[in-house]
Amino acid sequence: MITIKALRKSYKMGKNKLEVLKGIDLEVQEGEFVAIMGSSGSGKSTLLNIIGMLDVHDSGLYELDGIVIQNLNESKAATYRNKFLGFIFQSYNLIGFKNVLENVALPLYYQKIPRNKRNEIALQYVEKVGLGEWAKHMPNELSGGQKQRVAIARALASQPKLLLADEPTGALDSVTSHEVMRLIQQINDEGKTILMVTHEDDIAHMCKRIVRLKDGVILSDEEITQTRV
Ligand code: ADP
Ligand code: MG
Repeated sequence: MITIKALRKSYKMGKNKLEVLKGIDLEVQEGEFVAIMGSSGSGKSTLLNIIGMLDVHDSGLYELDGIVIQNLNESKAATYRNKFLGFIFQSYNLIGFKNVLENVALPLYYQKIPRNKRNEIALQYVEKVGLGEWAKHMPNELSGGQKQRVAIARALASQPKLLLADEPTGALDSVTSHEVMRLIQQINDEGKTILMVTHEDDIAHMCKRIVRLKDGVILSDEEITQTRV
Protein backbone atom coordinates (compact mmCIF):
# COMPACT_ATOMS: atom_id res chain seq x y z
CA MET A 1 0.00 0.00 0.00
CA ILE A 2 2.87 2.37 0.86
CA THR A 3 6.42 2.27 -0.51
CA ILE A 4 8.85 4.92 0.65
CA LYS A 5 12.50 4.92 -0.40
CA ALA A 6 15.30 7.32 0.54
CA LEU A 7 12.74 10.00 1.36
CA ARG A 8 14.13 13.35 2.44
CA LYS A 9 12.51 16.53 3.66
CA SER A 10 13.95 19.79 4.89
CA TYR A 11 12.49 23.16 5.79
CA LYS A 12 14.10 26.48 4.98
CA MET A 13 14.88 28.50 8.08
CA GLY A 14 16.07 31.84 6.77
CA LYS A 15 19.49 31.09 5.28
CA ASN A 16 19.66 27.69 6.89
CA LYS A 17 18.08 24.39 6.06
CA LEU A 18 16.52 22.24 8.76
CA GLU A 19 16.83 18.63 7.65
CA VAL A 20 13.90 16.78 9.20
CA LEU A 21 13.80 13.49 7.27
CA LYS A 22 17.18 12.23 6.08
CA GLY A 23 16.51 9.11 4.09
CA ILE A 24 13.43 7.17 5.20
CA ASP A 25 12.71 3.67 3.88
CA LEU A 26 9.32 2.25 4.79
CA GLU A 27 6.96 -0.36 3.40
CA VAL A 28 3.43 -0.74 4.70
CA GLN A 29 1.13 -3.52 3.51
CA GLU A 30 -2.64 -3.48 3.45
CA GLY A 31 -4.17 -4.24 6.85
CA GLU A 32 -1.17 -3.19 8.93
CA PHE A 33 -1.46 -1.11 12.10
CA VAL A 34 1.74 0.91 12.50
CA ALA A 35 2.79 3.26 15.28
CA ILE A 36 5.30 5.97 14.40
CA MET A 37 7.22 6.94 17.52
CA GLY A 38 9.98 9.40 18.35
CA SER A 39 10.62 12.33 20.60
CA SER A 40 9.07 15.73 19.98
CA GLY A 41 10.54 17.31 16.85
CA SER A 42 11.78 14.01 15.41
CA GLY A 43 9.73 14.42 12.24
CA LYS A 44 6.74 12.15 12.97
CA SER A 45 4.11 14.65 11.85
CA THR A 46 6.22 15.66 8.86
CA LEU A 47 6.35 12.03 7.71
CA LEU A 48 2.63 11.51 8.32
CA ASN A 49 1.78 14.74 6.48
CA ILE A 50 3.86 13.68 3.48
CA ILE A 51 2.13 10.28 3.48
CA GLY A 52 -1.18 12.14 3.74
CA MET A 53 -0.28 14.47 0.86
CA LEU A 54 -0.62 17.49 3.13
CA ASP A 55 3.07 18.23 2.55
CA VAL A 56 5.57 17.31 -0.16
CA HIS A 57 8.96 15.61 0.07
CA ASP A 58 12.17 16.99 -1.42
CA SER A 59 13.56 13.77 -2.87
CA GLY A 60 13.16 10.02 -2.78
CA LEU A 61 10.21 7.85 -3.73
CA TYR A 62 6.72 7.81 -2.28
CA GLU A 63 4.23 5.42 -3.79
CA LEU A 64 0.67 5.10 -2.47
CA ASP A 65 -1.48 2.25 -3.75
CA GLY A 66 0.74 1.94 -6.83
CA ILE A 67 0.70 5.66 -7.64
CA VAL A 68 3.92 7.67 -7.51
CA ILE A 69 3.15 10.74 -5.43
CA GLN A 70 5.22 13.53 -6.89
CA ASN A 71 4.55 16.88 -8.53
CA LEU A 72 0.80 16.49 -8.18
CA ASN A 73 -1.18 19.68 -8.58
CA GLU A 74 -3.44 20.58 -5.65
CA SER A 75 -6.64 19.38 -7.32
CA LYS A 76 -5.15 15.98 -8.12
CA ALA A 77 -3.72 15.71 -4.60
CA ALA A 78 -7.16 16.59 -3.20
CA THR A 79 -8.77 13.89 -5.33
CA TYR A 80 -6.35 11.25 -4.03
CA ARG A 81 -6.74 12.49 -0.47
CA ASN A 82 -10.53 12.22 -0.67
CA LYS A 83 -10.37 8.84 -2.33
CA PHE A 84 -7.63 7.12 -0.31
CA LEU A 85 -7.12 8.85 3.00
CA GLY A 86 -8.86 9.51 6.29
CA PHE A 87 -7.30 11.80 8.90
CA ILE A 88 -7.58 12.02 12.67
CA PHE A 89 -5.79 14.74 14.62
CA GLN A 90 -5.08 15.37 18.28
CA SER A 91 -7.26 18.49 18.19
CA TYR A 92 -10.23 16.72 16.50
CA ASN A 93 -10.68 19.55 13.96
CA LEU A 94 -14.47 19.44 14.06
CA ILE A 95 -16.51 22.30 12.68
CA GLY A 96 -18.05 24.07 15.66
CA PHE A 97 -21.20 25.35 13.99
CA LYS A 98 -22.14 21.98 12.50
CA ASN A 99 -23.70 19.14 14.48
CA VAL A 100 -22.21 15.65 14.79
CA LEU A 101 -24.05 14.23 11.78
CA GLU A 102 -23.18 17.25 9.60
CA ASN A 103 -19.51 17.01 10.57
CA VAL A 104 -19.39 13.35 9.59
CA ALA A 105 -21.33 14.00 6.36
CA LEU A 106 -19.03 16.83 5.23
CA PRO A 107 -16.40 14.76 3.35
CA LEU A 108 -19.25 13.10 1.46
CA TYR A 109 -20.45 16.52 0.36
CA TYR A 110 -17.04 17.09 -1.24
CA GLN A 111 -17.47 13.74 -2.98
CA LYS A 112 -20.72 15.11 -4.44
CA ILE A 113 -22.86 12.44 -2.83
CA PRO A 114 -26.51 13.64 -2.67
CA ARG A 115 -27.79 14.92 0.66
CA ASN A 116 -30.09 12.01 1.57
CA LYS A 117 -27.44 9.45 0.81
CA ARG A 118 -24.77 11.38 2.74
CA ASN A 119 -26.94 11.66 5.81
CA GLU A 120 -27.71 7.96 5.63
CA ILE A 121 -24.01 7.03 5.38
CA ALA A 122 -23.01 9.56 8.06
CA LEU A 123 -25.60 8.20 10.50
CA GLN A 124 -24.30 4.70 9.93
CA TYR A 125 -20.78 5.83 10.97
CA VAL A 126 -22.04 7.94 13.88
CA GLU A 127 -23.76 4.80 15.16
CA LYS A 128 -20.66 2.71 14.52
CA VAL A 129 -18.64 4.91 16.91
CA GLY A 130 -21.42 4.67 19.52
CA LEU A 131 -22.81 8.20 19.20
CA GLY A 132 -26.22 7.52 17.62
CA GLU A 133 -27.99 9.46 20.34
CA TRP A 134 -25.66 12.43 19.90
CA ALA A 135 -26.15 12.88 16.15
CA LYS A 136 -27.93 16.24 16.47
CA HIS A 137 -25.65 17.64 19.18
CA MET A 138 -23.01 20.30 18.58
CA PRO A 139 -19.28 19.60 19.16
CA ASN A 140 -19.13 21.87 22.23
CA GLU A 141 -21.68 19.61 23.96
CA LEU A 142 -19.36 16.61 23.71
CA SER A 143 -16.49 15.31 25.83
CA GLY A 144 -13.01 15.01 24.33
CA GLY A 145 -13.42 11.27 23.80
CA GLN A 146 -16.76 11.81 22.07
CA LYS A 147 -15.26 14.50 19.83
CA GLN A 148 -12.50 12.13 18.80
CA ARG A 149 -15.14 9.47 18.02
CA VAL A 150 -16.87 11.98 15.75
CA ALA A 151 -13.54 12.67 14.04
CA ILE A 152 -13.04 8.93 13.58
CA ALA A 153 -16.54 8.56 12.10
CA ARG A 154 -15.82 11.47 9.75
CA ALA A 155 -12.52 9.90 8.68
CA LEU A 156 -14.21 6.56 7.98
CA ALA A 157 -17.30 7.88 6.19
CA SER A 158 -15.53 8.22 2.86
CA GLN A 159 -14.25 4.62 3.19
CA PRO A 160 -10.56 5.48 2.89
CA LYS A 161 -8.02 2.74 2.20
CA LEU A 162 -5.66 4.27 4.73
CA LEU A 163 -6.35 5.94 8.06
CA LEU A 164 -3.74 8.44 9.30
CA ALA A 165 -3.83 9.51 12.93
CA ASP A 166 -1.53 12.13 14.47
CA GLU A 167 -1.49 11.72 18.27
CA PRO A 168 -5.21 10.83 18.35
CA THR A 169 -5.11 10.29 22.11
CA GLY A 170 -2.75 13.20 22.82
CA ALA A 171 -5.45 15.38 24.39
CA LEU A 172 -7.29 12.61 26.26
CA ASP A 173 -6.97 11.18 29.77
CA SER A 174 -5.79 7.59 29.97
CA VAL A 175 -9.21 5.95 30.44
CA THR A 176 -10.64 7.85 27.45
CA SER A 177 -7.45 7.17 25.44
CA HIS A 178 -7.97 3.47 25.96
CA GLU A 179 -11.61 3.70 24.86
CA VAL A 180 -10.58 5.50 21.68
CA MET A 181 -7.81 2.93 21.09
CA ARG A 182 -10.33 0.11 21.50
CA LEU A 183 -12.36 1.66 18.69
CA ILE A 184 -9.25 2.11 16.51
CA GLN A 185 -8.26 -1.52 17.13
CA GLN A 186 -11.74 -2.62 16.11
CA ILE A 187 -11.39 -0.62 12.87
CA ASN A 188 -8.05 -2.32 12.15
CA ASP A 189 -9.58 -5.73 13.01
CA GLU A 190 -12.06 -5.05 10.20
CA GLY A 191 -9.10 -4.72 7.83
CA LYS A 192 -8.36 -0.99 7.66
CA THR A 193 -4.70 -0.01 7.27
CA ILE A 194 -3.73 2.47 10.00
CA LEU A 195 -0.67 4.64 10.58
CA MET A 196 -0.63 6.37 13.93
CA VAL A 197 1.82 8.86 15.36
CA THR A 198 2.22 8.71 19.11
CA HIS A 199 4.91 9.42 21.66
CA GLU A 200 3.27 7.26 24.32
CA ASP A 201 4.76 3.80 24.68
CA ASP A 202 1.61 2.12 26.01
CA ILE A 203 -0.46 3.51 23.12
CA ALA A 204 2.17 2.38 20.57
CA HIS A 205 1.95 -1.15 21.96
CA MET A 206 -1.76 -1.22 21.11
CA CYS A 207 -0.69 -1.14 17.43
CA LYS A 208 0.97 -4.12 15.70
CA ARG A 209 4.25 -2.62 14.54
CA ILE A 210 6.43 0.18 15.91
CA VAL A 211 8.63 2.40 13.74
CA ARG A 212 10.96 4.63 15.77
CA LEU A 213 12.34 7.84 14.30
CA LYS A 214 15.41 9.61 15.56
CA ASP A 215 17.42 12.43 14.03
CA GLY A 216 15.60 12.07 10.72
CA VAL A 217 16.16 8.35 10.22
CA ILE A 218 14.40 5.15 11.26
CA LEU A 219 16.09 3.82 14.36
CA SER A 220 14.07 0.60 14.57
CA ASP A 221 11.10 -1.02 12.90
CA GLU A 222 9.57 -4.09 14.49
CA GLU A 223 6.43 -6.16 14.67
CA ILE A 224 5.12 -6.38 18.22
CA THR A 225 2.60 -8.38 20.20
CA GLN A 226 -0.42 -6.15 20.30
CA THR A 227 -1.82 -5.12 23.69
CA ARG A 228 -5.59 -5.52 23.38
CA VAL A 229 -7.74 -2.88 25.03
P1 ADP B 1 7.12 15.72 15.59
O1 ADP B 1 5.76 15.51 15.02
O2 ADP B 1 7.94 14.46 15.66
O3 ADP B 1 7.10 16.40 16.92
P2 ADP B 1 7.50 17.53 13.36
O4 ADP B 1 7.46 16.64 12.16
O5 ADP B 1 6.27 18.31 13.64
O6 ADP B 1 7.94 16.67 14.62
O7 ADP B 1 8.68 18.57 13.21
C1 ADP B 1 10.02 18.18 12.95
C2 ADP B 1 10.89 19.43 12.89
O8 ADP B 1 10.54 20.19 11.74
C3 ADP B 1 10.72 20.35 14.08
O9 ADP B 1 11.98 20.89 14.40
C4 ADP B 1 9.78 21.41 13.56
O10 ADP B 1 10.00 22.63 14.22
C5 ADP B 1 10.15 21.50 12.11
N1 ADP B 1 9.02 21.87 11.24
C6 ADP B 1 7.87 21.17 11.09
N2 ADP B 1 7.05 21.77 10.21
C7 ADP B 1 7.70 22.87 9.77
C8 ADP B 1 7.41 23.92 8.84
N3 ADP B 1 6.26 23.93 8.15
N4 ADP B 1 8.33 24.88 8.66
C9 ADP B 1 9.50 24.87 9.33
N5 ADP B 1 9.85 23.92 10.20
C10 ADP B 1 8.98 22.94 10.44
MG1 MG C 1 3.87 15.97 15.72
